[in-house]
Amino acid sequence: MGSDPLGDVRWAGYRRKLIEDIRARGIEDLEILQLFDRVPRHLFLPEGVRPRAYEDAAIPIGYSQTASQPSLQAYYISILKPTSDDKVLEIGTGSGYQTALLALLADRVYSVERVRELSQRARQALDAFGVKNVALLVGDGTIGWRKYAPFDVIVVSAASPSVPQALVDQLADGGRMLIPVGGRDIQELTLVTKTGFAVSEEVVGGPVKFVPLLGRFAWSEEGGA
Ligand code: SAH
Repeated sequence: MGSDPLGDVRWAGYRRKLIEDIRARGIEDLEILQLFDRVPRHLFLPEGVRPRAYEDAAIPIGYSQTASQPSLQAYYISILKPTSDDKVLEIGTGSGYQTALLALLADRVYSVERVRELSQRARQALDAFGVKNVALLVGDGTIGWRKYAPFDVIVVSAASPSVPQALVDQLADGGRMLIPVGGRDIQELTLVTKTGFAVSEEVVGGPVKFVPLLGRFAWSEEGGA
């Protein structure tokens, strides 16, 4: 297939199956479904788990972390609807797969990851995929990324005991943030929107189970991941 720049024809069939699974989870938006056809998830996963790349499941990526479940990422995107004008902040780069999905929709994606090795691996995969509008930072995402604030969209990919105020502060007027809030074992998906000085919070999904957000304005690192 000449339209397959990564030569991953053998994966394309699996990817179609994943898209069916995402659709079965209630995501009908064609643009979102096509987005998942454009990003080769296997490229973002460690060698050993690549055969599972197109399962609609969280997949271990090392360092006690997981790549999130694709249908959940599709749900995030359906709620946040990033557009080509939007500046996006992602907390928890992880594999970089979701970073790539967001990069295809948004103007620019700024993504923060606390595990240096994961950020480095994500950089390699993003370069191999060929997206150029992504900036990565190794650090504590609970304090956001002040240098590039404010952000139209903030995507938090790890579970937090509460909404970190620094992230609310870095949300643009008209901005929206999705973050799993709750206990270490189970959380609700919380949508935070900002209009002028008014900030509102609404539960839009769950229960979900994300790995913990570890940092200054979430859980302490000593608690273990
Ligand atoms: N969207 C990613 C999700 C990875 S899991 C993917 O699909 O691959 C969540 C990630 O958040 C982990 O890689 C973890 O190391 C990271 N993380 C946890 N606390 C963080 C913090 N305070 N700042 C930045 N990243 C953090």
